[in-house]
Amino acid sequence: MEVIKTDVAIVGAGGAGLRAAIAVAEADPSIEIALISKVYPMRSHTCAAEGGAAGVIESDDSLEYHFNDTVQGGDWLTDQDAVELFVNTIPKELTQMEHWGCPWSRKENGDVAVRPFGGMKIMRTWFAADKTGFHMLHTLFQTSLQFPSIKRYDEFFSTDLMVDNGRCTGVTAIEMRSGQMRLFQAKAVILCTGGAGRIYPFTTNGAIKTGDGWGMAYRAGVPLKDMEFVQYHPTGLPGSGILLTEGCRGEGGILVNKDGYRYLQDYGMGPPDPWPRLKAMELGPRDRLSQAFWHEQKKGNTIPTQWGDVVHLDMRHLGEAKIDERLPLVRDLASSYVGTDPVTSLVPVRPVVHYMMGGIHTDIDAATPLPGLYAAGECACVSINGANRLGSNSLGELLVFGARAGRHAVEYVRSAPEPNAAALEKQGAEAQKRITDLFTRTDGTERVAVLRREMNDAMEEGCGIYRDANTTKMSCDKTTELRQRFKRINLEDKSNVYNTDLFQCLELGNMLDCAETIAQSAFQRQESRGSHQRLDFEARDDSKYLKHSMAAYNGDDPPKIDYLDVVITKSQPAERVYGGEQK
Ligand SMILES: Cc1cc2nc3c(=O)[nH]c(=O)nc-3n(C[C@H](O)[C@H](O)[C@H](O)COP(=O)(O)OP(=O)(O)OC[C@H]3O[C@@H](n4cnc5c(N)ncnc54)[C@H](O)[C@@H]3O)c2cc1C
Repeated sequence: MEVIKTDVAIVGAGGAGLRAAIAVAEADPSIEIALISKVYPMRSHTCAAEGGAAGVIESDDSLEYHFNDTVQGGDWLTDQDAVELFVNTIPKELTQMEHWGCPWSRKENGDVAVRPFGGMKIMRTWFAADKTGFHMLHTLFQTSLQFPSIKRYDEFFSTDLMVDNGRCTGVTAIEMRSGQMRLFQAKAVILCTGGAGRIYPFTTNGAIKTGDGWGMAYRAGVPLKDMEFVQYHPTGLPGSGILLTEGCRGEGGILVNKDGYRYLQDYGMGPPDPWPRLKAMELGPRDRLSQAFWHEQKKGNTIPTQWGDVVHLDMRHLGEAKIDERLPLVRDLASSYVGTDPVTSLVPVRPVVHYMMGGIHTDIDAATPLPGLYAAGECACVSINGANRLGSNSLGELLVFGARAGRHAVEYVRSAPEPNAAALEKQGAEAQKRITDLFTRTDGTERVAVLRREMNDAMEEGCGIYRDANTTKMSCDKTTELRQRFKRINLEDKSNVYNTDLFQCLELGNMLDCAETIAQSAFQRQESRGSHQRLDFEARDDSKYLKHSMAAYNGDDPPKIDYLDVVITKSQPAERVYGGEQK
């Protein structure tokens, strides 16, 4: 197998991966970087982000307010040292993006404009119309091109982390166009592989979001943290799951049920107050809004369609000029995918799986417990999102912690020993054998598409917006069964060139491992907090569960779930209040 020697291997070239690469290159131009991505960087999911990135800039705002909103939004499961670092750093990162050329939308006077966002009680979300991720990713990509030390490996699919003597020493990846495996020998590896919404059947996430980094880290012995916290975004388009950004409501859009009634006032989101309704109603946090939809559905107040029940997003009162200036993509998406123009019609929407709060356990330097392995962006759990991420904190997170991962990897690499070549070769050969076995076996009986569908259905049914002991147990049993059946998977396409059957098979393996950690963590957390709502344990239980769940790989058996204390520095757990006067 060809060995490619580098200093830092970064898996993932979305926002987090590119930001990490730039940080390494800026810190020390002599450090070699291999930037590995299974898609061309601009096709990473960051490109799809619409609404914006939160950072304190207005004079009536403060770092403390952003901290409070984030901690409360996360139902006190956030690590407060990480949140504090995040809110302090993000304005600098967003300004840095401006200097690198990110075209932030402006006010009349030329200042950077901000818009309201869910759970943020002050306007602080920077945006570039409703294509923020697109512009951020372009900005990072074009900036990365000026550093000769960043060597890109586009369309390389990573499969396994190399671990020797308790350190991470590299990663294997298949060159997709030839089917050949390469061994990247590295002193440090940074995982920036994004989320895993594709574990669920109805999601805003692109097809590449399959939890590959989670799977690799987990099998290498790194715990996955807070996996039970799965975010449903309240406004996805029925049928496709395409997102209509929270920016729609940030700009003034409202949600109504089948009677045209703004039902959120019945769910503790406060009275429909005059604009800007920063305290709540449609700008409440995503977990609460998705839960309200579930109740409306139970009451028969939703509207049935061929793609399931919906409510309506009404933006007509915003007017064509504002919609075209602030929400051009939303107009385009609604017109193209559900045939309704928001300027003149109500748009059907329903909750959709959007984001994973959990992920690879890291400290505030983006370091995992495995020396030499770092993680940042959506695949990591640092944790600033706790039990429910606030919209527009994720684009900031990937900048702040992507940069930190890069800088701390540089520190580590300076004193890390050279990887042991013989040990690497042996592990590389094992990774290769796993793939070769898939090609040569003749007894495979299971199909990728069938197992994936069964996994999707079991997770939606068992670990959805509301869960209980029976449903989560069903998901546990089903994912364990599917992991067994996966051993008998049949690769139908045996060719080498762009073998999508192979890659979908590897992605399914990763998703099944992760799905089992979601189900087990959800089954064992006997309380309701943020996005994890148990019908059989309706209250939050700080005496037992003010803790992160940590899922550890256990071979063929289900993961072992342990708990780790949450870091609390200055905000003691309290009731989450929206729709009131609190700041
Ligand atoms: C539709 C949508 C809208 C959103 N809007 C917002 C918003 O307005 N504000 C906000 O804060 N957040 C938003 N989010 C969330 C946010 O965009 C994501 O959490 C964030 O962009 C993730 O960035 P990332 O760099 O961690 O991962 P990604 O951008 O997903 O990149 C992952 C990278 O990993 C690579 N990769 C994965 N597996 C492998 C493998 N096996 N081998 C090699 N490479 C691999 C991929 O090729 C890709 O380059 C939105 C999300 C979605 C889905």
